[in-house]
Amino acid sequence: MLNIDGSQGEGGGQVLRSALSLSMVTGQGFRIARIRAGRKKPGLMRQHLTAVGAATALCGATVSGDAIGSTELTFSPGKVEAGEHTFSVGTAGSTTLVLQTVLPALLTAGAPSRLTLEGGTHNPFAPPFDFLAKTFLPLVNRMGPRVEATLERAGFYPAGGGRFTVEVTPAAQLSGIELLERGEIMRRSVRGIVSNLPRGIAERELKAVRKKLSWPDECFEVVELRDGHGPGNVVMIEIESEQVCEVFTGFGEVNRPAEAVANHATQQAQRYLRCGAPVGEYLADQLLLPLALAGAGAFETVRLSRHTRTHIDLIGRFCDVSIQTDDHGRDGATVRLG
Ligand code: ATP
Repeated sequence: MLNIDGSQGEGGGQVLRSALSLSMVTGQGFRIARIRAGRKKPGLMRQHLTAVGAATALCGATVSGDAIGSTELTFSPGKVEAGEHTFSVGTAGSTTLVLQTVLPALLTAGAPSRLTLEGGTHNPFAPPFDFLAKTFLPLVNRMGPRVEATLERAGFYPAGGGRFTVEVTPAAQLSGIELLERGEIMRRSVRGIVSNLPRGIAERELKAVRKKLSWPDECFEVVELRDGHGPGNVVMIEIESEQVCEVFTGFGEVNRPAEAVANHATQQAQRYLRCGAPVGEYLADQLLLPLALAGAGAFETVRLSRHTRTHIDLIGRFCDVSIQTDDHGRDGATVRLG
């Protein structure tokens, strides 16, 4: 059984989630202590506990320490059972992070799966559904499996109530990909999305993005959702190039001016455009795991975040794959696996 220090590096929920994913795929059990020691409220929160429950259900694992607030957990995986599963976070906690935990094991499982995920679909500090569907999954699909996600209803923090389904057709083995150049930019768009909130919020966000990005009119769109629970707002900037479609998000919050929400997304997009690398900061840390399972691949990213560095260390504990990084400072970084 591997001993993992949950406070290592970035010291957040990702250390736990990735350990679960890697454990399910490799069959290697682990014991993790000091879970989320780097956070204000350490230990397992509802979202992390749902990820543990989902991983346990999928592979019939033996677990101890799986309770809210727990800072230690042991996990001994069994055989991965593909098929139909529903995972409910029960609050507005992020469903995409629950998917992130269980998906790797299903990509090479012996049979297809259909997952239903219920809870938050557009949460701050987590991949919004659009990032999952447009950025991450198309790259996973290039590695061999077929994964399709369908949003049934958006769920924003704090009301939650979102729902999406994921169909997974596995591949026998994942193949590595290389994302070293961005290529031509084929499409750009900015969407201001409001759910049960005035349209004017999204209009102000688009105006603020437009001031900085000066893209043509047809790139900007207000989307008013009618079927969501509770209020919600995001602004999303999409940049689709030959290699990848990146999605940069600003999350609306009570007492946060629309312009500040817009600027947060705009700054990420501007940095991405300036740097020229195809892989943004968030995609970098998420891409590592499937590439490690493929045993090969390379990408150029805007920067090596603490999440990415922590993830590289953790992967090294479970997998026999070499991960080399070459940091070019403000010009980004190269990550090579194999
Ligand atoms: P915490 O312990 O910090 O409360 P957590 O479990 O919610 O943690 P992190 O460990 O910080 O989360 O991991 C967040 C994950 O969400 C990372 O994989 C990161 O790449 C991803 N992520 C965060 N924000 C975005 C975003 N705007 N777009 C895409 N992915 C994102």
